[in-house]
Amino acid sequence: MLPFWLNLPYFWQIQAKIDHIETNLLTISSLSIAREHENERFKMFLQQVDGGQIDSKVLELNNTITPKIDCTQCGNCCKSLMITVSEEEANVLSSALNQTRENFDEQYLEKGSNGLMLINTIPCTFLSDNKCSVYENRFAGCREFPAMHLPNFKQRLFTSFMHYNRCPIIFNVIEQLKDALVFERD
Ligand code: SF4
Ligand code: SF4
Repeated sequence: MLPFWLNLPYFWQIQAKIDHIETNLLTISSLSIAREHENERFKMFLQQVDGGQIDSKVLELNNTITPKIDCTQCGNCCKSLMITVSEEEANVLSSALNQTRENFDEQYLEKGSNGLMLINTIPCTFLSDNKCSVYENRFAGCREFPAMHLPNFKQRLFTSFMHYNRCPIIFNVIEQLKDALVFERD
């Protein structure tokens, strides 16, 4: 049963009051282990809430939290994720780097088991001083991550929670979402 105020329109107008943004990756990682059970319950709780209402709250939280986090101090997605590359992206970047596709593929790509092209290093080879050295031509997955600005959050629970322990933006949005929805923590 949801608290009655979740159905009141003004509830969703309340500006997020963000007291603390956690950016320490070790803290986030250990909190994610400690909150495993709570997060499972939260995922089930979210199933009862209207998807549009969740999206508007997630977007509001994302807009408040993301500017407060400096991705160049973190870079954890570039250091820990497998990056997929499309044919077109490989064409664009190889040409920007003045390389033939053949050389580019040999130097930077490998084929995944599902046939997808992947960057062949983790951390990503294009990460330099915690910054993307090919920022203008970075890949679609890089542009989209951590996807808290996108609609249909409810349909992306699996991937969002999969990255909760690695991305401070996702971690803080989800933690604040719990409070905004008056979710009873463990
Ligand atoms: S998107 Fe998340 S994991 Fe990537 S650098 Fe920014 S805060 Fe870190
Ligand atoms: S291409 Fe750039 S943004 Fe994408 S993973 Fe590599 S360093 Fe990060």
